[in-house]
Amino acid sequence: MNLRKLRNLWLVVLLVGLVFVPPPAHSETDKADMHQALLDLTSPWTVMCVAAHPDDEDGSTLTILRRKYGMHTVSLFSTFGEGGQNAVGPELYEELGVIRAHETMAAAEVQGSEPHFLGFRDFGFSKSAEETFRAWGEKEMLRRMVLQIRLLRPDVIITNHDTTSGHGHHQATGRIVLQAFDAAADPKQFPEQLALAPVWQVQRLFVRNRAQAPESTSNGQPAPPPQIVTLDPNETDPVRGVTYAQQALAGLQKHATQGPWPKTVPAGGARPIRYGLVRQAPSAPPVPANAKTPIDGLQLPEAVAAKLAAPTIEGKPLTDFVDRRLEVLVALLNAKRRGVFTAAKDLVATDPQRFKLMSSRLDNALAEVSGASVALTSEGPALVPGEESRLGAVVTNAGVAEIQIKQVKFRGFGTETKLNAADKMLPGTETSAELRLLTPKSAPLTVPAAEHLYDGRLFGEPLDVDAELTIEGVTFTVSTEAHRDIAPAVEIVDVDPSPYVTTPATSQKPLEFKVKLTNHLSSDFRGILRVSGQSLETGREIDLKPNETETSNLVVRTALPTSQIQAPNVAITVDLPIPKEPIAKRNVPLVYADAIVVSGRKVGYIPSYDQTLERSLAALGADATKLTVEDIAKSNLSVFNTIIIDIRGYEAHQDLIPVNNRLLKFVEDGGTLLVFYHRTNEWNPNESRGRPQLAPYPIIIAEDRVTQEDAPITFLLPKHPLLNFPNKITQKDFANWVQERGLYFPRQWDPQYATVLSTNDTGEPPLKGGLLVAPYGKGNYIYTSYVWYRQLRAGLPGGYRFFANLISYGRKKED
Ligand SMILES: [Zn+2]
Repeated sequence: MNLRKLRNLWLVVLLVGLVFVPPPAHSETDKADMHQALLDLTSPWTVMCVAAHPDDEDGSTLTILRRKYGMHTVSLFSTFGEGGQNAVGPELYEELGVIRAHETMAAAEVQGSEPHFLGFRDFGFSKSAEETFRAWGEKEMLRRMVLQIRLLRPDVIITNHDTTSGHGHHQATGRIVLQAFDAAADPKQFPEQLALAPVWQVQRLFVRNRAQAPESTSNGQPAPPPQIVTLDPNETDPVRGVTYAQQALAGLQKHATQGPWPKTVPAGGARPIRYGLVRQAPSAPPVPANAKTPIDGLQLPEAVAAKLAAPTIEGKPLTDFVDRRLEVLVALLNAKRRGVFTAAKDLVATDPQRFKLMSSRLDNALAEVSGASVALTSEGPALVPGEESRLGAVVTNAGVAEIQIKQVKFRGFGTETKLNAADKMLPGTETSAELRLLTPKSAPLTVPAAEHLYDGRLFGEPLDVDAELTIEGVTFTVSTEAHRDIAPAVEIVDVDPSPYVTTPATSQKPLEFKVKLTNHLSSDFRGILRVSGQSLETGREIDLKPNETETSNLVVRTALPTSQIQAPNVAITVDLPIPKEPIAKRNVPLVYADAIVVSGRKVGYIPSYDQTLERSLAALGADATKLTVEDIAKSNLSVFNTIIIDIRGYEAHQDLIPVNNRLLKFVEDGGTLLVFYHRTNEWNPNESRGRPQLAPYPIIIAEDRVTQEDAPITFLLPKHPLLNFPNKITQKDFANWVQERGLYFPRQWDPQYATVLSTNDTGEPPLKGGLLVAPYGKGNYIYTSYVWYRQLRAGLPGGYRFFANLISYGRKKED
């Protein structure tokens, strides 16, 4: 240890102490961050986890490898998961993809990993890799994965996906990762990528739980048993005081749309994680027996390893000294002075990315230990093309040593600007450098984010600040990458409803839109909000304060009933008082559905996650009342003819289960109860969860799905009222469905139920339980696994016609 340096630093501290209040004691989080930054200096290895969807990543292993071993961990996702369900909000499809991308970032933050996306469209559940390849292209999938491997250069890849089980997206991902392992190292594969990213040989590929079955070797001898690495997630992380499994669960819970997740790790601990080696580089050493990580046994070339040896204090790792911050700082400054993690050009050229990774980790450790950080501030969350914005680069010294500022650089829109900043910072102070940024007129928009899921602009425009700082003559760089949306001066955030559906009962009424607007300017905006389309035209003045968000009602009285309007869309625009090009524009599809509900029907409904039921009932002109669980428990239900339980309603409202007898009584007394699909673990009787059979006669559901949107539909009971009254249902009503036919189809049901429809994916047996209906007492009970809600939401006329029959089903209102 360099005592002279240490003394100098103490001197600084003492002098400073006379003037400044000493910085507050460092919190546990600070300590964990510092520990991580120092641990990161000890591992030059990169492990990549490949996953099909957000939440398919192996969070436990990612957590262990980073938090215990300091490895660089990246995850690579085939999709954003936008084809999934949403357990917490109304968003589906691209809007859900945006949320899941952010959930993935939050989970990665917990795991200490770095997420990347291949950006394939998640078109919902599929049953085979072939179906997935038809949508994505097998070669295209390989091309994108190879590029990411060449750019990110993992030493080892791990994946939860094999080639044959589960979701077709999982199988496809499992198959492509096997191919990509070889292709990334082959210069004949995708040579056009090589200018951007040279070939890269991954050393090992591991697949979760499934080692390749031992094969015979060429001389007839049995192959050695598969090489397995087992990780124990139940070990307690001494730095954070919780197990790695608990940390991984906290990460998993960030994928909230895919919940509900377990609240705690099971009492006996999480299961050990087993990985089998399925591919290795020709030169890779064997996996040692009892390997603790998938990296064990790998070695860097001696010259590289020598240059990447971690700095120490008296031969001990720096992590031993987290409570002696100043000594660590001196050790890091000395290491930087000695040129640790740098080498002669030709040696660096053999593995530039690894040297870059370790140098940036050294700078990060210096920032963490010295308390230096940099942040970007701005007036609003978005930048407007053609407008000037005031940004600030704030450099903070939260440590104990004086820091010199050599320079502060800003990078954005392809240009670099040097900022004027103070030349030094005393401990416990910060300094801000101001920047006036003109956003180029040509800067492409990044909002609404759902329209930028696949174009690389999902997270907005990257803006970088680098601060070159000096302590005791040693210079290091502290960086931040911030993102800002590029938005029009006024953004149309949301239009409700969209699509706009009308039916015979509503087509004569004025159209009513709710339009949510945000003013992204730092000045007032006055203009016109307008609806236009063939035979309708209206507008109203709007006046928005700087950065204000407001919802405006727009009522359009049309001369024609909407059934006769020819335009498939109406346009909603924001214009200047003297209109030129609209400032913002949204097209809203206008749909006319020839669907009627039997007259006098009173409908009650309990929505789950979105407003589809509310909007659809309004479009049908139904006399509908939104109900709460409290209403079910206490109010007079006999005023209703039909009550609807929305998708996954017994999950969204678990307190509905104890009052379910009230719903069954409602049926007994003559009502129609319509229950949309549930997942198996939300529906099937389960004593330990206090859940009885919820239907009046038993229904047991399974995992069966029909994923082909055009899977044939058979009318098993063509004369059944559900297919005839009041709307005559034909095959046309099942055309153009979105996403799938249905999911979690019942496998067993009581013979009291009539089965009305049958459907199946190609090559599979027909599923007849997707629409079950039975009389019970004086009323009727209907359970359906068809995804009516997705068709209603998408504005499919056939969906409205069948939905109208479902709610019209049962006795006529007698009183
Ligand atoms: Zn998945």
